[in-house]
Amino acid sequence: MKIGVLALQGAVAEHIRMLELAGAEGVVVKRTEQLSEIGGIVIPGGESTTIGKLMRTYGFIDALRQFSAEGKPIFGTCAGLIVMAKEISGQPEAHLELMNITVARNAFGRQRESFETDLDVHGISEKVRAVFIRAPLIEKVGEGVEILSTYNGQIVAARQKHLLVASFHPELTNDYRMHGYFLEMVKQRG
Ligand code: GLN
Repeated sequence: MKIGVLALQGAVAEHIRMLELAGAEGVVVKRTEQLSEIGGIVIPGGESTTIGKLMRTYGFIDALRQFSAEGKPIFGTCAGLIVMAKEISGQPEAHLELMNITVARNAFGRQRESFETDLDVHGISEKVRAVFIRAPLIEKVGEGVEILSTYNGQIVAARQKHLLVASFHPELTNDYRMHGYFLEMVKQRG
């Protein structure tokens, strides 16, 4: 099974490694034509404004909307979560506007810019080690969105059908179960 990692900016190599540990073939995606070769795609962390701009420049906004319209799974982590949201708190415009969520950027404040914790994630049996780096929070979820994980009562992972998002960086530990969960979503699609 081939799974892409959008390689415009951000933590690409780490996601490829995790996908391969989870049993998939990782594909570095730099051009929209490559989307037809893969069953699902990861949008990595980085800086969401930069990723959004590069997506516009290289035609990925329409191409990824089409990819999603075909029911192909997308997994957004950290900045990738932000670019998938329908609304970004305090910003007039969002990016892909795929998922029925409102996100707040850099939501943990300066004292807690980066930290690690163990999280319960619905659908994964034991706690997942989560690395948060200038992480966003999901402030609101709309119809069809299932909350998968919370931290101190705040939503940090969610799913809407074939769309999966996490505030944290599941690629920065040796625990590839979030990637495994995503691979299951791709497999179930057939
Ligand atoms: N703070 C970044 C943003 O708003 C996201 C951080 C990350 O991806 N680690 O885009």
